[in-house]
Amino acid sequence: MAEKAESLNIIRKVSHWINGQIHESDSDRYGEVFDSATGEQCAEVVMANEADVNIAIQSAQDAFLRWSRTPVLKRARVMFRFKELIERDRKEIAVLLTQEHGKVLHDAHGSIQRGLEVVEFACGIPHLIKGEYSDQVGTGVDTYSMRQPMGVCVGITPFNFPAMVPLWMFPIAIACGNTFILKPSEKDPSCSLKWAELMQEAGLPAGVLNVVQGDHVAVNSLLTDPRIMAVSFVGSTPVAEHVYQTASEHGKRVQALGGAKNHLVVLPDADMDQAADALIGAAYGSAGERCMAISAVVTVGDSAEPLLEKLVPRIEALKVGPGTDNNNDMGPMITAEHRDKVRSYIDLGEEEGATLIIDGRNHGVTKSSGYFLGPTLFDYATPDMRVYKEEIFGPVLTISRVDTFDDAIKLINNHEYGNGTAIFTRDGDAAREFASGIQVGMVGINVPIPVPLAFHSFGGWRRSL
Ligand code: NAD
Repeated sequence: MAEKAESLNIIRKVSHWINGQIHESDSDRYGEVFDSATGEQCAEVVMANEADVNIAIQSAQDAFLRWSRTPVLKRARVMFRFKELIERDRKEIAVLLTQEHGKVLHDAHGSIQRGLEVVEFACGIPHLIKGEYSDQVGTGVDTYSMRQPMGVCVGITPFNFPAMVPLWMFPIAIACGNTFILKPSEKDPSCSLKWAELMQEAGLPAGVLNVVQGDHVAVNSLLTDPRIMAVSFVGSTPVAEHVYQTASEHGKRVQALGGAKNHLVVLPDADMDQAADALIGAAYGSAGERCMAISAVVTVGDSAEPLLEKLVPRIEALKVGPGTDNNNDMGPMITAEHRDKVRSYIDLGEEEGATLIIDGRNHGVTKSSGYFLGPTLFDYATPDMRVYKEEIFGPVLTISRVDTFDDAIKLINNHEYGNGTAIFTRDGDAAREFASGIQVGMVGINVPIPVPLAFHSFGGWRRSL
């Protein structure tokens, strides 16, 4: 049954969360947050100034002294309670995600689940951070190592997973005894406050988790402040590179995950129904706004025609509409600006000479006031075309045709991004060779979006990390 997002008549104000409460900022800069399915403004977000960031850092630094000495079992118990509270409120959170991001409710629930799994992992922190001990490494000398918290850590997160990506970061950092400042995307900021409130309800002391809302002003203050020890960033590659360079120049430990262009190889022996079904979810789910979305198919030999025969009717049958209706497969884009950018890539692909098979610009849903585009498919995309090379981050899939398996490997290995990839084949030898020869971080064999679970690491290669 479809859950309906409640229609809010007042514009919510989304502020910072510092030292266990909403922090009233004197900043005069605000951002607009939209219900992407209707185009109406649903919230305004306060953009932090340097003074706000300074207060948040001081609060996190003061809290570190006590939190880092809190027994690890007590820190783990906060995570157990946090997990229960997410389960209690997950419907409400999913509605919030659907309203601000636009993803269909079932997809919103899925993203909460994947974040929840990281919280479950963090519940095991007493075992995970045990150190090592070697007895008698020299006569009368023992050696031990221990894992110690670093101090104040920062997480800067993208718009496309406003619940899950913050949950990749702060539960682990905090369970390890660090304190944390989250700077979520200004495009869908509300979930960050929900996380802060639930962590407090779970028993987290004030100051251990803080949230500053905003844009590059907040980010740059965080990256250069000497009290920050470590930075975790997830977002587009140009910003990831800026964050990595600035924060490391300022002596911080930095992990920066960037953008992607993920290829899916179809060999002639593949189960074409399976490959087409996989592509529907992987290319068009969440309107293509996923760093692990498949945006480039590589057909080998004569596999293009049988794949197209299965794929085209499935794309034409996709239901596009508001994410509040769980019968829809695909919702809107995040903003009008982003929708226009994705649309301009369809114009570009045509100009560059790719063959447009399905044109999302003409889909009936584009007549609504929300930020919709229909699913789009190009054939004959070549490596020199921008529509193939660049991350579009929307419901646009390209097909590139190559002659051999080796050509497919070469094409993928030459791409500047290397986040995820997949192959569809029934040939075990080809699958094994693909898995070992491909230079990409996460690899799927007959699995379209090879996202590891919380107890494995996640990350791409080349400009994706
Ligand atoms: P973005 O890079 O525009 O923004 C990410 C964060 O950086 C936001 O919090 C934003 O406020 C901040 N930011 C933006 N511009 C900045 C600047 N000039 N200086 C400092 N901070 C700045 O990314 P987005 O559009 O929110 O998210 C989509 C991108 O994220 C895509 O490229 C996608 O592939 C990537 N992504 C990657 C992963 C991954 O795990 N590799 C996961 C999710 C999303």
